[in-house]
Amino acid sequence: MIDIQSIRNDFPILEKKIYDKPLIYFDNAATTQKPRSVVERIKNGYYNVNANIHRGVHFLSQAATEAHEEARKTVQRFINASSSNEIIFTRGTTEAINLIASSFTDGFMEEGDEVIISVMEHHSNIVPWQLQAARKGITMKVVPMNERGELCMDTYRELFSDRTRLVSLTHMSNVLGTVNPVKEIIEEAHKKNVPVLLDGAQAVPHMQVNVAELDVDFYVFSGHKIYGPTGIGVLYGKEEWLDKLPPYQGGGEMIATVSFEKTTFNELPFKFEAGTPDYIGSTALAEALKYVNNIGLNPIAAYEHELLKYMTSQLKTFEGMRIFGEAAEKGAVVSFLLRDIHHYDMGMLLDRLGIAVRTGHHCAQPLMKVLGIEGTVRASLSFYNTREEIDRFIEGIERVSKMFE
Ligand code: PMP
Repeated sequence: MIDIQSIRNDFPILEKKIYDKPLIYFDNAATTQKPRSVVERIKNGYYNVNANIHRGVHFLSQAATEAHEEARKTVQRFINASSSNEIIFTRGTTEAINLIASSFTDGFMEEGDEVIISVMEHHSNIVPWQLQAARKGITMKVVPMNERGELCMDTYRELFSDRTRLVSLTHMSNVLGTVNPVKEIIEEAHKKNVPVLLDGAQAVPHMQVNVAELDVDFYVFSGHKIYGPTGIGVLYGKEEWLDKLPPYQGGGEMIATVSFEKTTFNELPFKFEAGTPDYIGSTALAEALKYVNNIGLNPIAAYEHELLKYMTSQLKTFEGMRIFGEAAEKGAVVSFLLRDIHHYDMGMLLDRLGIAVRTGHHCAQPLMKVLGIEGTVRASLSFYNTREEIDRFIEGIERVSKMFE
């Protein structure tokens, strides 16, 4: 059970008034708000345990190193990786995908080799591959979707060829809310000896992710979307893969020895962490994961699912309402358009009522093109949202609707 009042008390920003109205924060897919414990951890890190990590013999450096490495173990346990060597800290999902796109292409792809992505990818799982396409002549194959916003699995199977080297797909769509059948996707790829990268930016805050059970080769997510700080994220990779991949960036930390003639690289996970890592961010992310674990991902998923069902049914009472994405498996994200009311108008007018939603293409322009629209209004939920907030949101839409009648 979710103790909503006690949870809301942990998030000071939720008490804020916007234009003199209580804030309703429905932009959680873009970033989540932070509980007190996470902000306190950042403050405590800088006030009490701040020193550059790994190479210092002095007390503070060792304490900061221990905290950073303990955070890595917390992430490892959170997604059930088999070793903390498989957890690489990055700046976020985007950097993690760029890392794999760059290193995997360098290590394992030749001109004409193929990566399978999907029509519902965020730009951060399209553009890095395009950069590699321009650099090395690799090509992208795109899995289409049906009218409910579910991937066409038959076409997915047909897209494999003897040049397919990697599948790189989103676990949950940030626009449609679709939760993709990742177990099946991975099994299918592995039958053909093709590894799989999953973009877990949207999935990880809403459901239990178990990388060992999924048998996924690479899994990436951002700290700020799971109640942690900005500027820190995670790349999980199977040790056998990370060992084989060439480094991404060069610099301090990722080396074993350096001479002007030759450099040897550090072991995992440091091989992929060039420069001073965000050791305050990592420890605050670990704090966020503990917070989420304390509530429990199963109760979170159940509660958010109820909110999603309620919001969807209320939205459907409007004539001329179009909801984009009605997959059988769906997370707490609703993209919609009401009649011909422009998404910016809807977003701006809801904002005046204290309601934060996102409008636009949501960094998924190819998906917008397939849907034949420019953008949507997107309301995305968290466990700190309530039915009462949805009621106020629906009243807000009613007001906007009347203005455009
Ligand atoms: N993938 C998906 C599915 C996302 O929703 C986002 C963020 N909107 C990203 C990738 C990029 O995440 P970040 O900006 O934190 O790197």
